[in-house]
Parts: sequence; structure tokens; C-alpha cells
Amino acid sequence: MTHYDYDLFVIGAGSGGVRAANMAAGLGVNVAIAEQRHIGGTCVNVGCVPKKLLVYAAQFQEQFQAAEGFGWTLEPPSFDWTSLIVSKNQEIKRLQAIYRSRLQQSGVRVITGRAKVLDAHTVAVDTVQYTAERIVVATGGWPSVPNIPGKQHVVTSDDMFFLEQLPKRIIIVGGGYIAVEFAGILHGLGVDTTLCHRGDKLLRGFDEDVRDFLAVNMARKGISILFNTDIEAIERADDAFAVRLFDGTKMTVDLVLYATGRTPNSTGFGLEAVGIELDGDGAIKVNDDYQTNVPSIYALGDVTNRVNLTPVAIAESMALVNNLYAKQPRPVDYDNIPTAVFSQPNIASVGLTEAQAREQYPDIDIYQTRFTPMKSALSGQDEKTLMKMIVVRSTDRVVGLHMVGPDAPEIIQGMAVAVRAGATKALFDSTIGIHPTAAEEFVSLPLI
Ligand code: FAD
Ligand code: NDP
Repeated sequence: MTHYDYDLFVIGAGSGGVRAANMAAGLGVNVAIAEQRHIGGTCVNVGCVPKKLLVYAAQFQEQFQAAEGFGWTLEPPSFDWTSLIVSKNQEIKRLQAIYRSRLQQSGVRVITGRAKVLDAHTVAVDTVQYTAERIVVATGGWPSVPNIPGKQHVVTSDDMFFLEQLPKRIIIVGGGYIAVEFAGILHGLGVDTTLCHRGDKLLRGFDEDVRDFLAVNMARKGISILFNTDIEAIERADDAFAVRLFDGTKMTVDLVLYATGRTPNSTGFGLEAVGIELDGDGAIKVNDDYQTNVPSIYALGDVTNRVNLTPVAIAESMALVNNLYAKQPRPVDYDNIPTAVFSQPNIASVGLTEAQAREQYPDIDIYQTRFTPMKSALSGQDEKTLMKMIVVRSTDRVVGLHMVGPDAPEIIQGMAVAVRAGATKALFDSTIGIHPTAAEEFVSLPLI
């Protein structure tokens, strides 16, 4: 029998890689993991976690305003970006340390450096070579910026978490998750924020009502949104940037953020030489068991560009390890994956959009409500909430739920269990509400 240094060598200590390594080690597998940058990967260092901390920071502005309606008198509040970033960095350091110590406690060998695949069973980190029976590629993705004149002047989401100072004026390019989330963050922190999107609606793939409702409410809060245009060129103008759009608009801003998608990190570390097949977008092709065309090499998470979310990368790694080492196939169910966008207002969805449901079923009923949350009654704020339910009339089954408004992600997470369990509209309606909440509207939504 061939002897390898490790049973399993994981490349990339992000959401997927860390879980795969810890879980396999827990099953007695001899595991090493290589990380070139920060333990925890995108989510912990430049993604979900620091993003959510900035979202919290941004929400205070509205909360201070709302407080006055409830009898509070506040000194004019002031905000210090540097102090927020220092606190954020401390929290990320704490999380990195927890991730590292969990790996070590599980018995995983943590190797720092850029891994290169040399052959189907060999990985090199710097000058040291390691052999492994199996290799898992969990290398995630990087922000991708199109080639435009002045590209050297732009920043990406990675940079936003380490800015030395907050800009006074920003233009954000893109209409996806990152663009709308950062638009909310920056506007909330007092930055004059313009969102520039090449399409006519934000958040492709989301329900049309959600897309429309979000844009109206972002604009109502004071974010300037430019649709159907794009940046033609960016030039330096003293300490700022002169931006020219294709529709002729000219603006001067202090920062240009590109949030135009992410590219799978699949090249430049040996996969080409080993003959790993990629799709047209550079994602590693895998079968249902996360195996590439080279049988000893597996891939999961963002580098496979399927559903690029942390809980999905984690679910894939658990499915892979269960299958390989516990001999308990528990495939990931890619239907009804709930998702949230931490925009202002928040969005969360599970299941089908109305358009998808109408393609799949001949008899769709739409239940919907739009209302002003109770808190707004005294806060004086013009906050609005949208709740939408998509039901197949013949079976009464709820196949899609969508919400825009405060706490939408917290509410939809629970609802997702009901949708996955096949709950009917009648079951929702016979569930007693928790009063007074916004969520109780989901158990009495009216037909439209
Ligand atoms: P990653 O977490 O990207 O980890 C890959 C790791 O591999 C990296 O640490 C990288 O340095 C390392 N690596 C790459 N190449 C090598 C090599 N050759 N050798 C050694 N190491 C290597 N998802 C959510 O679910 N909720 C959110 O709120 C959310 N917010 C996000 C906000 C932003 C700004 C971004 C960018 C992403 C967000 N995501 C969110 C997506 C989420 O971060 C990713 O889906 C998730 O991190 C993917 O995990 P992964 O393990 O596939 O890759
Ligand atoms: P997305 O794919 O969500 O959005 C990219 C946006 O950029 C789209 O609006 C797209 O327009 C636009 N775009 C793409 N190429 C160009 C171009 N050349 N010029 C102008 N505009 C362009 O990517 P993000 O970068 O926002 O996020 C990456 C992924 O990270 C997300 O898809 C998600 O999976 C994950 N993520 C998850 C979060 C969460 O769970 N809350 C938060 C942040 C990220 P068009 O629609 O026309 O193609």
C-alpha cells in the first residue's frame, strides 16, 4: 500500500476548508491544511463577519434619529471610522485565534503559505513537499474588476475593511450583494453614496417585487442609484477622482468601489498542469461527490462557483467528509437555500421567486403585504416592509417566501424550516402569531 504523509490535504482555510479539516480529523483522519493569507478565509476576514459589523455600525445613525421619537434627547452623535476599524480588527484577530486553536485541537497540521499542486497526490508549500491520499481544493474566489481606463484607481470589497479614512463621496459599481450592502453601510456612516448599475434592477435572481421595493427604499433613504449606465473612465483629480459615465454624467468622488462579482481562485497553483477541468468562468468542475476529473482531487465552496455562501461551503465540506470517511452519504440539498442581503433595508428569501414558480407550476397564488413597521409610528421614519408568499394553488404548498424590512434575515431563517418541510398556506394560517411582531404577518398574509 502506498504511504502518504497525510490522508487528506486541504488547500485553503476558509469556511469550507476549515470545516472539512476539523471534521475529518475528528473522524481520525490524518489531515493538513495550507493557508496563504488568513485563517478563516473570506467570510471571517473580508466577508460576512466584518461586513456585518460595519452594517451594525451604519444602523446606529437611524437608531439615534428614531430614539428622539421615543423621548430621548441626544447630543449630536459623532462617528470615528478609525476606532470602528480598530475594534473590528481586534474581533477578527480573536476569531482567527479561535479557528487556529480549534484546528490544532482537532489534530490538524496547519501549514502557512501558498500551496501548489504538483501531481494528483503531491502538494508543495514553499519548498516543502507533502503527499496525500486525497487533496481538497477550497480556495474560494477573488473580487473581479473589468478592464476600464483608470482601473488602477479603484478599490474592491477587500480594501473597504482596511480604509485609512472614510471617503466623503463614493461611487459603487455593481448591483449585486456586495454593491447594495456597501451602499447601505456607507450611506449609514454619512458618506455621500452613489450606486451605478449597468442593468435596470438591482440583485439579479431575486424576486422582482423585492428588487423594485429595495431600490425605492434605498433611494428613499438617500442613496443615489443610477441604472442602465456604467463607468467609461476614471482619472485622478488632485486628491479625488473624476469619473465619466457612458450616459455622459461626470462626477467627482473620493473613492470608486467595484463590486462586479468574484472569480473562482482556480489558477496559478498547479491545477492546470495536473489537468483539472474548469468551466467557462474558471470554476472547478466537480461531480455530485465534489470529485474533480482527477479522482484524488476534490473541490468545494466558492472555487466551484455554485452557491457562493458560507453555510453552503460548510454544508458541502460536511457532505464530502461524511461520504469519504464516515461512509454516510448525506448530499447537500441545493433546493430552498435561504439567503439574506444585509442591505438597508434588509432582504431575505427562501424558495422560488414568483417568476420561477410560474415557470414550474400552472397555478400560482401570490399573497403579499406592505406595511409600515410599528417602530416607525413614533420614530417618524419612513421605514417600509414587504412580505410575499408564493403558493401552489392545487397543493396549497408554500414554495417561496420573500421579505424586505427590518430583521428579515432573522425571520426568514425560521420560516425556511417550514418551507423545506413542505408547509401549506393553511398550516401557516393556523399557526398562532407572536404579537406584536412583524413576523406574525407571515401567518395571515392576504391574497393579492
Ligand atoms: P474562502 O472563504 O474564500 O477561503 C478560501 C481560502 O483559500 C482563502 O483564505 C485563501 O487565502 C486560501 N487560498 C487560496 N489559494 C490558496 C493557495 N494556493 N494556498 C493556500 N491557501 C489558498 N456569505 C454568506 O453566507 N453570508 C454573508 O453575509 C456573506 N457576506 C460576504 C461579504 C463579502 C464582502 C464577501 C466577499 C463574501 C461574502 N459571503 C457571504 C460569501 C462567503 O464569504 C463565501 O461564500 C465563503 O467564504 C466561501 O468559502 P470558501 O471556503 O469556499 O472560500
Ligand atoms: P454578484 O454576482 O452578486 O453581483 C455582481 C454585480 O456586478 C451584478 O449586479 C452584475 O450585473 C455586475 N457586474 C458584473 N460584471 C460587471 C461589469 N463588467 N461591469 C459592470 N457591472 C458588472 O457579485 P458580488 O461581487 O456582489 O458578490 C459575490 C458573491 O458573494 C455573491 O454572489 C454572493 O454569493 C456572495 N455574497 C453573499 C453575501 C450575503 O450572503 N449576504 C454578501 C456578499 C457577497 P448583472 O446583474 O447585470 O450581471
